Amino acid sequence: MSDDIPFDKNLDVVPDKVDEPVPGVRRVMADNPGPFTFKGTMSYIIGRGKVAIVDPGPNDPRHLSALLDAVRGETVTHIFVTHTHHDHSPGVPRIKAATGATVYAEGPHRAARPLHIGEHNPLDASADRDFKPDIALADGAVVEGDGWSIEAVATPGHTANHMAFAWREKNILFAGDHVMAWATSIVAPPDGAMSDYMASLNKLARRTESLYFPGHGPAIKDAPRFVNYYILHRKAREESILHRLGKGATDIPSIVRAIYIGIDPRLVGAAGLSVLAHMEDLVARGLVETDGAPSIDGVYRLAEGAGRLAG
Ligand SMILES: [Zn+2]
Repeated sequence: MSDDIPFDKNLDVVPDKVDEPVPGVRRVMADNPGPFTFKGTMSYIIGRGKVAIVDPGPNDPRHLSALLDAVRGETVTHIFVTHTHHDHSPGVPRIKAATGATVYAEGPHRAARPLHIGEHNPLDASADRDFKPDIALADGAVVEGDGWSIEAVATPGHTANHMAFAWREKNILFAGDHVMAWATSIVAPPDGAMSDYMASLNKLARRTESLYFPGHGPAIKDAPRFVNYYILHRKAREESILHRLGKGATDIPSIVRAIYIGIDPRLVGAAGLSVLAHMEDLVARGLVETDGAPSIDGVYRLAEGAGRLAG
């Protein structure tokens, strides 16, 4: 289902070894490979001398030591956090304690909406509920450092508090998990919301940054074009769901079986939540109906008049 996006899985990076993919941007990848993290979480270092770190990563002593080694003899003045998933933010306390840097992010973890899916939620352990920024950033806020200025770009969708960071002088965006070169982003309730996610993609598509450094995987070149592929992919997924409903499917598990052919079995739970995220959006837009609030085990049908859209 995803071969429409020109994915790039070429990543020649050794875990916990610093490299400098473009002048002024260094990265250290944590050794936490997996179906959601690709080869590992990327921590980035901005500038030289007085630097900022984007996403300290998981609370893995080897990774955090490698990150501190990479900036030995320099001063870390700022820590930026894209979002509060366990592979991005739990390393913050140690890096802050070691450096005295100030922590900037949109805010603490919160759900996109209240949702009680209990043990159905395979992503439940993914949230870092202990995180609190020193300074909460609003969309468009600019933070000045030594030789760099970073603009906060609110990009809710993957999580409600997701924020990308634009390095204005270099026309580079640190994209977090919102857009990645190696795979689509997970948009799953209760953390994520599809209507927010699509709005955030459209927002990025209008921006000028041509090079993205994501939370996982290689850099994205020609980024606005890549973002448009992401938008088209989600629209195609939505069409598939409407098509399945038009053919008589009524529940999320059968839709997942029909449209996620050959999926990694470890991702089936996330795929169900992703379809739920689409259902929430489709119900909100009046294209699909269900009884009560959209839920993972809900019964769904096309709304009156939506059938022609399902083709
Ligand atoms: Zn994440």
